[in-house]
Amino acid sequence: MAGSRGEFLLILCTTCDNAHGARKVAARCPRCGSSLTCSHKILKECNSATELQKLVMLRNMPEELRDGFHRMLEKKESAKIHKKIDDKRIWPKLARKCVNNKGEIDLQEFKNELMKNNQESNVNLVLEELSYQGFVLKSGAESWMLLE
Ligand SMILES: [Zn+2]
Repeated sequence: MAGSRGEFLLILCTTCDNAHGARKVAARCPRCGSSLTCSHKILKECNSATELQKLVMLRNMPEELRDGFHRMLEKKESAKIHKKIDDKRIWPKLARKCVNNKGEIDLQEFKNELMKNNQESNVNLVLEELSYQGFVLKSGAESWMLLE
């Protein structure tokens, strides 16, 4: 590991003991502002900006937290794999918010509402589902009425 060359540097300021990432050693430490010229150490080199970001974060973290942090990162990754399931129970409430003065659901607005609430289902699918449940009624090619 030591001595591997890369485009990005993990630089430690020996004045404040904080690390930062950069392509080359700057004149001053971005953390404490003191001159880096004779008070820095290059801890590591790497070739990816994301890798560098992680290295900086880990270096500046109290040692006892690093372990837990690694575990948290792993957890986050595995959470991403589980696809989020839409919460159908909030759909009628959202639809109700988007009724225009003709008693129809404003599709664009409904789409926005679904997005705002992190629902990933297509707006037409949502409306069909709602019509099965008796909340809305298709009243035209592209129009839906709210029943109630
Ligand atoms: Zn510093």
